[in-house]
Amino acid sequence: MTKKLLFVSTSIGTLGSGLGGGVELTLRNIATELVQRGYRVTIVAPQGSTAWGMPLVEIAGSHQISAQTQGRSAPVVIPHNSVLANLWDYARQVQDNYDLIVNFAYDWLPFYLTPFFNCAIAHLVSMGSLTDVMDEAIARVATQFPGTIGVHSYAQAQTFPFASQCQYLGNGIDLSQYDFCQHPSAGLAWVGRISSEKGLEDAVAASQITGIPMKIMGFMENKAYWQQINQDYPNAPIHYEGFLETAELQKRLGECRALLVTPRWVEAFGNVAIEALACGVPAIAYRRGGPAEIVEDGKTGFLVEPDSVEGLVAAIGRLGEIDRQLCRQRVVKEYSNQAMGDRVEHWFNDILG
Ligand code: UDP
Repeated sequence: MTKKLLFVSTSIGTLGSGLGGGVELTLRNIATELVQRGYRVTIVAPQGSTAWGMPLVEIAGSHQISAQTQGRSAPVVIPHNSVLANLWDYARQVQDNYDLIVNFAYDWLPFYLTPFFNCAIAHLVSMGSLTDVMDEAIARVATQFPGTIGVHSYAQAQTFPFASQCQYLGNGIDLSQYDFCQHPSAGLAWVGRISSEKGLEDAVAASQITGIPMKIMGFMENKAYWQQINQDYPNAPIHYEGFLETAELQKRLGECRALLVTPRWVEAFGNVAIEALACGVPAIAYRRGGPAEIVEDGKTGFLVEPDSVEGLVAAIGRLGEIDRQLCRQRVVKEYSNQAMGDRVEHWFNDILG
């Protein structure tokens, strides 16, 4: 019998806006792959979202603020007419029509509500440990509902006290959307939300030191942070290209010599790293979090001591050693939508018993 899945999106922004970061592409790719495998998927997301042609229920209400902007001991804050509360109220009402609900939000409420639902809930956790209250809420579900917590990397799982109870999923992309580029014609690339936990300033510093131009692509989350970087590195040959659709992103990214991945935090995965590799673009990444599991040092890019601009500069000097074909092959083997779909299906089957 056809399995029916309800995908509940993030509450911090609309799908397609960029505010949701990697979660947006992750949700899209998993949904697309499972639809191809015969599942019936409905996406429920904040009003104004796009669902790329898949069935979508839009829910009104005020968005949550991003978890990464708060401190360890921050309490849970739920605004008036909360879209998060409204999304989960909707899920509660329709739960009997579904075999499984999949939570894509890094929010306290869905974890708290899990025991009150009749329908099983799979939680795909998209960030590492950030606050005590979230750790506590996720840990409770991990214990009461074994196997229902999915993560993107081992490093991400290790940030939680319940690491051993997490299901490793990696991530995947639709390779048909990314063209392989053998001969780069441009300089460096940096892709991501412009926000301090992403460490953009280190990549800009490396661009200034080497004099190699760098394209910056991504959602402008923190303007003040961006202005500060421009003030601090006035001579860096950088250009902000805006927040781009996947088709345009992969085109401009593909012609670059390398992607710099410079997060300050333990990046749960780093979608941008596999997107670059898919185009044949090696990634130079800090040896920290998800990117350190994706990039093979000296083969599909370089792993650099975290927070070391000199390390980035040295790795840029070694780019000639990289075979761009191997970069693409890494994604074909490990991070295709098919590979991810297999892992996700296995996870769902385990949960559904
Ligand atoms: N992205 C995009 N257009 C851009 C730049 C980035 O669509 O111009 C997307 C990219 O495809 C990726 C996401 O933004 O899926 C960033 O996700 P990542 O996992 O790298 O980091 P996060 O934002 O989740 O911390």
